[in-house]
Amino acid sequence: MNERERIPLHSIRTFRTRGSLVGEYDFYCRCGSREHGDLQEESEVAIQCHNCERWSHVACQRDGRASNLAKKEPFYCDTPDCAPYSDRVLLAQIRRPKRMNSFTMYRPGKGALARHDKYWYPVRIKSCRQVRGNTLYTVKWWRHCSFKPNTQPPLELGEADLVDALYGDHKHRRMIRLGRWTHAHEVPQHEDIIANFRHIPYSVYIDEALAPHSQLLTNIFEQPDAAKMRNAVPVIGYLADLSEKTGRKHTTVPYCGDLSLTDCAQIANWVYHHIPGASKQIVNWLNCATYAHACTIVVAKRKKNQLQEMAEDILTEPNAILQAAWLDLQLSYDLSAMDVDVDLECLGILEQRMFELSLAAGAAGNEQWGKDAGTHQDRWNPYEGLPEHWNHGDRDPYAPEFEGELDVRRFHIHSGRLH
Ligand SMILES: [Zn+2]
Ligand SMILES: [Zn+2]
Repeated sequence: MNERERIPLHSIRTFRTRGSLVGEYDFYCRCGSREHGDLQEESEVAIQCHNCERWSHVACQRDGRASNLAKKEPFYCDTPDCAPYSDRVLLAQIRRPKRMNSFTMYRPGKGALARHDKYWYPVRIKSCRQVRGNTLYTVKWWRHCSFKPNTQPPLELGEADLVDALYGDHKHRRMIRLGRWTHAHEVPQHEDIIANFRHIPYSVYIDEALAPHSQLLTNIFEQPDAAKMRNAVPVIGYLADLSEKTGRKHTTVPYCGDLSLTDCAQIANWVYHHIPGASKQIVNWLNCATYAHACTIVVAKRKKNQLQEMAEDILTEPNAILQAAWLDLQLSYDLSAMDVDVDLECLGILEQRMFELSLAAGAAGNEQWGKDAGTHQDRWNPYEGLPEHWNHGDRDPYAPEFEGELDVRRFHIHSGRLH
């Protein structure tokens, strides 16, 4: 099957392409995905940059900007070469602000609150589809939600189980009890995606690359043997040579080539789940031989065509491609290093809208969440420690809740700014 055929062309109106649909297909999303194999779900949709012609996930673009383009409006990705074009488009949009309705409120890339049990938690909307006249939304729940133990929130929801930030809508906010979660600003700055790999499930592509080698990877983890393994596992040779040269035992490997942070996290996630005992001794393999060899395998698969030439030129060993991949892992680096934690970004935007205290937010900004419905999960106080600058200082926090109800939503939208 032509790989491209897996992208559902029909499922989103903004899906477009400039070139033909055959041939090489360059995927480069700001979330760190470099593989279209990361489009795990049938419903996940990609969009092509009008400038660099590479593809991105629609749902990974800031505040859903890629899922609300007008018919002929081009999409520009966030890489430095393309962003200036994007800015131009953005300015044009501010001049003619868009109307809000449920289609534009709940679209891929937007944050929202979704109901699970009796509480509402933050999600990022990934895609939507029509089923018998109803719209169903695929969502990704914020990774730091404190769901009730042994409950799994659904991955697809109807409109009745979704609300947006309800900006300026104090009546609706009063009906919503919030589940407990870790605020975006409480997540440590630069939370290390790799350290957090347990929350970053591996893709089908990573599984296809690593599964055939699970026995070898298990052997490296359990009993690395330099003499026996150095041909099949280049990193073992590297560590043995380094140890010999320096006179002390080396176990860590600092290389990850041009694998993105997300790639690395997914590889770690795979090892964690598939190598027996790995989940109990993370320090013994993360950034060590087992993990480095898994990275080598992924590079060998992904860059096979590129490495073929190098392998033929310089190496005659049976594992030439693997040796070339190991070299590549040491020499290449990710030029962009621009990966964005798109879930964190999405939550930050949602929370600012939810908790802003300002003239524009009006009475709804006065700690209205759940007031008529009951306490939040575990009596959580979601307002504690919110960033100072969300209080714009132009509204008295003790002002009566229902004073002068101007239509703040309209005011907000026409002012053309989001915060
Ligand atoms: Zn993405
Ligand atoms: Zn681009």
